[in-house]
Amino acid sequence: MSFKDLLQDSELARIDAQHTAADGATTDAMGTLAGQIAALRQEVARQNVALTVLTQMLIERGGVDASQLKARFDQGMSRAAAEASLFTCPRCKQRVDKRRTQITASGTLCDDCYRAVMLEG
Ligand SMILES: [Zn+2]
Repeated sequence: MSFKDLLQDSELARIDAQHTAADGATTDAMGTLAGQIAALRQEVARQNVALTVLTQMLIERGGVDASQLKARFDQGMSRAAAEASLFTCPRCKQRVDKRRTQITASGTLCDDCYRAVMLEG
């Protein structure tokens, strides 16, 4: 099993499959949610360990300078934060900042589509 497979073979996937299989009238929603939160916590801890081990190995082998690694990490986090703040409007398919959206009875729209829909009546 490769390291990548090891990361993907997560406890989260196992528990999620269990909950999917158990979905039905008897499933306790709060129990399911608590289980998913516990699984997510485990997954975050597991990813943290994997990242720490990989980072240490890179630094110990001399292939990467710790300050360069930190700078690249910060760049990646900034990019991820910017990406997470975007919303794809289901009407016009444009990607806009989430702060430029409106919640309607039929779902969330970008401000431009919201105005267009309001003008259409
Ligand atoms: Zn739109």
